Amino acid sequence: MFKIYNTMSRSLEELIPLEDNHVRLYTCGPTVYNYAHIGNYRAYMFEDLLRRWIQYKGFKITQVQNLTDVDDKTIRGSRESGKALRDYTQTYKDTFFEDLKVLNIEPAEHYPAATDCIPEMIALIEKLFEKGLAYKSDDGSVYFPIDKFAEYGKLARLDRAGMRAGARVDQDEYDKDNAADFALWKGYVEEDGEVVWDSPWGKGRPGWHIECSAMSQKYLGKTFDLHCGGVDNIFPHHEDEIAQSEGANGCLYSKYWMHNAHLQVEGKKMSKSEGNFFTLREILEKGYTGREIRYELIGTHYRKSLNFTFDSLNANRAALARLDDFYAKLQEYIGTEAEAGELPSWAVEMETRFAAALDDDLNIAGGLGALFDGVHAGNKAFPMDPKEAAAVSNLWKKLDTVLGFLEPPKEEVPSELIEMAEARAEAKKNKDWAEADRLRNAVAAAGWIIQDTPSGPKLKKA
Ligand SMILES: [Zn+2]
Repeated sequence: MFKIYNTMSRSLEELIPLEDNHVRLYTCGPTVYNYAHIGNYRAYMFEDLLRRWIQYKGFKITQVQNLTDVDDKTIRGSRESGKALRDYTQTYKDTFFEDLKVLNIEPAEHYPAATDCIPEMIALIEKLFEKGLAYKSDDGSVYFPIDKFAEYGKLARLDRAGMRAGARVDQDEYDKDNAADFALWKGYVEEDGEVVWDSPWGKGRPGWHIECSAMSQKYLGKTFDLHCGGVDNIFPHHEDEIAQSEGANGCLYSKYWMHNAHLQVEGKKMSKSEGNFFTLREILEKGYTGREIRYELIGTHYRKSLNFTFDSLNANRAALARLDDFYAKLQEYIGTEAEAGELPSWAVEMETRFAAALDDDLNIAGGLGALFDGVHAGNKAFPMDPKEAAAVSNLWKKLDTVLGFLEPPKEEVPSELIEMAEARAEAKKNKDWAEADRLRNAVAAAGWIIQDTPSGPKLKKA
């Protein structure tokens, strides 16, 4: 049984989908006003591990991740750049999808953009008016009256007594001290430029929170299983989503809520003024690979603060090399034998421990511990029976459907070097030792090592 920590109940609960065997998951996506930073990718990496584990458990998944392409930040950015909002945000939508590939994050089933769902948002606000949960202010904006929704504050556990009735907040982001009626629709102001839609309440644009309520309902229905985001989304964003959705529909919004903790860089909160603010692109430019960064981002339990350091990124190289060496050895022993036999007992134990750890609220540290203990035991089990090695290799691939970093990067071996390695094997067969040595040295000079395996020569980077 897969247990997750539900922020709503503040306790571990078994994940049981509302619909047979089908988990419907909503994850708050990027605001496409800039290149996403590694703190953003910490959240998306947690959600990737979650969706991969849900599938490993045999569930079908439908994940929706929104792209916020209209809000305070995107409008400010487009105005400062002098570009139309659509052109401005397109750049960052494209780079977001490129980044996901680099980090081997599995794509969600749907990536709706807020600007493509404005009619759904307007419909939802109309429903809130019908229920007495929306009112128009003098400036043409529409607000949600939090004192009319008895359960307001249930996710963040706000003290309702401290709320100021009738106070309003216009910003998309605010803190608990400013809990107040929040904007569903923002009346048009000059700074919005050409970013404007018609509505029954006049010209304007949606507030940030209504975007997620409308987009989740469009793709997942009024009630779905699981909603995720970073801890800083709990308030106000997710609290406001609950108020809008449950207020309008009169039914439960999301059965479970999961939130990941912050990411720090070198032990400090990431900020531009501290000089420790990094986009994914900036880390790649320093020469690290997507696989190394993935390993770093996935390795800390999602509810613990992740301390991203360059020391540990460097150390990851050694850890990944150990895994690659083990996998390469397995391939050597498999040889030409294709059929997989029984798993040896140490590998059964590795899989059992790995699964038990991940079932425990995605305890990745326990999972990686099981993996490295398995590799340690496996290295001692060489030379391995080919059928056993094939079974372990299959298990490796199975675990990689969850981890996404086990498969070694494919190194393109230049074709002339492959020909030389084959010619060397031929020379050895003919006992032409001088020619065999000459070819080996030529391959070595190109930076590659020839490994003789039962299935023929293989080339490895020196
Ligand atoms: Zn959201």
